Amino acid sequence: MNMVEIITKKKLGGTLTREEITFFVQGAATGSVPDYQLAALLMAIRLKGMTAEETTALTLAMRDSGDVADLTAIPGVKVDKHSTGGVGDTTTLILAPLVAACGVPVAKMSGRGLGHTGGTLDKLESIPGMSVALSEADFVAQVQRIGLAVIGQTGSLAPADKTLYALRDVTATVDSLPLIASSIMSKKLASGADAIVLDVKTGSGAIMQTLEGSLELARAMVAIGALAKKPVTAVVTGMAQPLGTHVGNALEVKDAIDVLSGRTKGDLLAVSLLLGSHMLMLAGAAKDTAEGEARLRQAVESGAGLKKLRQMIRAQGGDPRVCDDLGLLPQPAVIRRVAVGRGGYAAAMDTTALGLAAQAMGAGRVRKTDELDYSVGFILPVRIGDCVTPDTELCTLYARSEAEAEAAEKAIRAAITFSETPVARPKLWEAVVTADGTLLNED
Ligand code: URA
Repeated sequence: MNMVEIITKKKLGGTLTREEITFFVQGAATGSVPDYQLAALLMAIRLKGMTAEETTALTLAMRDSGDVADLTAIPGVKVDKHSTGGVGDTTTLILAPLVAACGVPVAKMSGRGLGHTGGTLDKLESIPGMSVALSEADFVAQVQRIGLAVIGQTGSLAPADKTLYALRDVTATVDSLPLIASSIMSKKLASGADAIVLDVKTGSGAIMQTLEGSLELARAMVAIGALAKKPVTAVVTGMAQPLGTHVGNALEVKDAIDVLSGRTKGDLLAVSLLLGSHMLMLAGAAKDTAEGEARLRQAVESGAGLKKLRQMIRAQGGDPRVCDDLGLLPQPAVIRRVAVGRGGYAAAMDTTALGLAAQAMGAGRVRKTDELDYSVGFILPVRIGDCVTPDTELCTLYARSEAEAEAAEKAIRAAITFSETPVARPKLWEAVVTADGTLLNED
């Protein structure tokens, strides 16, 4: 096989065969195809697209480019969950312990922050002592013992995606539907779960910012799941504003603990319950979302969810006392409270800009090698649709220095628009896509 011919075929809008796609993916995994040819084909795919069959062949070839985790030793239906990436989007830390507390095993492999979005692994590592690097055997044993583990994906899972994702990041080819769908689904299929719930974000902080694009991505990933014989439910949820009020690693752990303790209600809890209820349904532990949400709510009220989180933190070497004493989480050098400074209604947020503001404070990486400061970020209590006065709190900044607090305040002010007239609140979710079809939220 000849890479130049494969690139030329796609450049001219042709359809690649499974063999050609496998050759390309193997080349990415083993290094036998140079980066410049991989990048050229990625750009041709970005510009010419792929058929559903090509996208599935790409996904399966990437899944098979490394190991596929074997979770069969864990009894019960293992349901995984994945978010396409958001800001203040810490649902895993809430729904994983809640679902596990309902008796459904959660064996989850998560990722790190990417661009303006946060990552579960970075948030977990803000807990003193916490390790997310377990061997597959220890991972399985922990889930057998306590029903819950959240770890980093081992390097041997979908290695072709690792190479291709890094190239996409630096060749302006991230925003390609077949490349996103195959990247996410190859990792999820390799992680060994029996069923998958996908949280496809839509809005100003999402990888797909329009509802149309998000729906298309959701349908493509559900279709790949059907062809790979894995039940997949995709929920399209709003990212017109950060999901929770806290943005930053330790701050999001705090937000999750407050939700699990019943102290914080609101959008983060609501979306966690919705996604968690779909996990329970796929596991056969609830007949519909109403029953699923009722079971999960019960796990909040009884404290069973928080107890499960404590157990997981202890099992992975972390200090479980953070669940009862939030002061044990990393603390920032500077805390600055910022008022809105005008009256009106919160109208719109550039959520990507808000994520980038947190990244610039040290909560995310600009370069792959950057060290994070787990203590930094901000609390943003204002929600779109809120009526505000000049004294209303806009945000509280947790910064490394006064200068960084100043820069973050500027960026956050620029990212939020106010209006004189009332503004409707954005929908929490827009659609649910299953193999049987799409349910649109008509509210
Ligand atoms: N997340 C992934 O894992 N891959 C993509 O391509 C985009 C988001």
